[in-house]
Amino acid sequence: MRRRPVKTLTVLALAGAMAAGSAATANSAPQNDERGKDIRNVIYLLGDGMGRTHVTAARDRYYGPGGKLTMETLPYTGAVATYAVEKGTAKPSLVTDSASSATAWSTGVKTYNAAIGVDSYEKKVATLMEQAKAAGFATGNVSTAEITDATPAAQFSHALLRGCQGPVYSDAACLPKKEDGTYEAAPADKTLITPIAEQIARNGTADVVFGGGLARFEPDDQKALQAQGYQVLGNFGDAALPAQTAASQKVATKADLDKANGKKVIGLFNRGNLTVEQAKAGLPADAPQKQEPTLADMARKSIALLSDRKQQERGKGKGFFLQIEGAQIDKRSHANDAAQTLGEVKAFDDAVKAAYDFAKKDGHTLVIVTADHECAGFNIIEHGTYTNSEAVAPPANTDAGNPANNSTPSRATSGAKDTTRSTGIVNGAGSGDAKNFAPATFRTPDDAPDVKDGSPEASLWLTYLSGNHTGADVPIFAYGPNGSAFAASQNNTELYTKMYRSLFGRSPQHH
Ligand SMILES: [Zn+2]
Repeated sequence: MRRRPVKTLTVLALAGAMAAGSAATANSAPQNDERGKDIRNVIYLLGDGMGRTHVTAARDRYYGPGGKLTMETLPYTGAVATYAVEKGTAKPSLVTDSASSATAWSTGVKTYNAAIGVDSYEKKVATLMEQAKAAGFATGNVSTAEITDATPAAQFSHALLRGCQGPVYSDAACLPKKEDGTYEAAPADKTLITPIAEQIARNGTADVVFGGGLARFEPDDQKALQAQGYQVLGNFGDAALPAQTAASQKVATKADLDKANGKKVIGLFNRGNLTVEQAKAGLPADAPQKQEPTLADMARKSIALLSDRKQQERGKGKGFFLQIEGAQIDKRSHANDAAQTLGEVKAFDDAVKAAYDFAKKDGHTLVIVTADHECAGFNIIEHGTYTNSEAVAPPANTDAGNPANNSTPSRATSGAKDTTRSTGIVNGAGSGDAKNFAPATFRTPDDAPDVKDGSPEASLWLTYLSGNHTGADVPIFAYGPNGSAFAASQNNTELYTKMYRSLFGRSPQHH
C-alpha cells in the first residue's frame, strides 16, 4: 500500500492562559541551590519500567545496600504518579503504558494507553521537543529501543496508535478499533495515521537521533533526512527493492558514532531494539552486536554534538533539550528476567553519569532522571522466604487472637490463576505455574567472595508480581538550576510544565 504523505508538523495554536503553577517544595535542604542561575540545557533521562525497587535492587547488586547509584547522588528527589486515562474520557486508568506516560510529560496532557502525542479525544498536542525546536533550541532523542517505539516517538511524532511505526501503513497498526470491532474512520489530520518512521524522517524535530529500529525506515526516508541536512550513519537500504532486509540495510556502528560530526545526525544501530548489555558481553568480539554503542556512548556523543552546535551558534542564546531512554529495563522486566533487568539499570545509570558529569562542568544544565512507570511489581523479599504464589496457603495471621484483626483471606488452590481477572496479555506460557515465580538470587559486594548468583546464600532475593506494568509511583532525581522544582510528589503531566518553565522561563499556555 502506498504510504500517506506527511504534512509539515506545526506547533498547535495555543490559546488561553494557564493557571499559576504549583509551588514546588524541596523534601530536603537544598544542597545545590542554583535558582537564579540561568538554564540553557535540559537533559531528561528515563529508565523505562524503572520503579523505586529497580533502583534499590541495582544499588544492592552493584554497590551494596550502603552504596549509591549515580542517579541517587543527584541532590533533589521526589515521586511521580503515572496513571493514564480511558480513551475518549478523563476517567483515570490506573496503570499506564509507555505511550500514554511519554505523552503526559512531552505534552502535559493525560491520554489513553497507546496514544502518541494526541489527547484522550485524538486531538494532536504540541510536544516539548517541538516547542523547544521552534524556539531555537537544539534537540536530541536517544533510546536503546527502536527510535519509533512509544517513549521516543511521543516527543517527535503524533499517532493514534503506538503500533503505527512503519515502514508501511496498515489499518491494523494505525487505526483504533471501535467497540464493535470495526476500525474507526481515518482522521481528517492524516499525520495521525502516518507511520512514525516517516514522520521522524520528515519533520526535523530532533537534530540528533540515536537508537534502534532501522527496519522501520526506508531509502526514501534517508533521502528526506539528507535533504534536510542530516548526516545519516549507516544506510537505509536499496531503493530498487520493494522491501528492505538485513542484507540491503547497513546498521550504524559505534565507529560511525565516534566519527559523527554533523549539526544534524541520525544513527540507527540495530534493525530492532539494541542488544541488552549482558547478552552483548557473552558474544565474540567480532559479533555485529558488539559494534553497537552503549547508552552511555550515545549520551556522551549526543551531548557533545548538541553542545558543540550551540557553541558554533553562540550569540543566539539558546541551549539544547535532550531526551535519553534506557528502554530495556522495561522489556526485561516484562520477561521477569532479573539479571538482565539489573544490568540494564546499571547501563542506564552509566548514561546518567555522562549527563551529570557534563552538567556539573557546564553549570547551566538541568538534569532530570525518572521513569515512565513501574514494570512487573519487582520486589526485594527477605532472604530465605518465598512468595505468596508459591505458598500452599495464605500467610498465617499472627494477629488471629485479636478479634479486630482476625480476617484471613482463603484460596482454593496454590498458584491458581483467576481467569476472570487475569487476562495474561503479556505473561507468556508457564505464567500459571507458581514455580516460575520463585525468587531470583544475586550476590552483593558485601557477600563472601565464594557466594554465587543464583545460590540460596546470595543475599539479594528478588521476585516479580506479574509480567505487566503496575500503578506504583516512580522515583525522580534532579540536579542543576530549577532542580528543586522536581523535589515533590507530582503528576507526570507536571513534568511537562516544569521542564517548559525551565527552558522558556515562563509557564506554558493551556493546550
Ligand atoms: Zn512495558
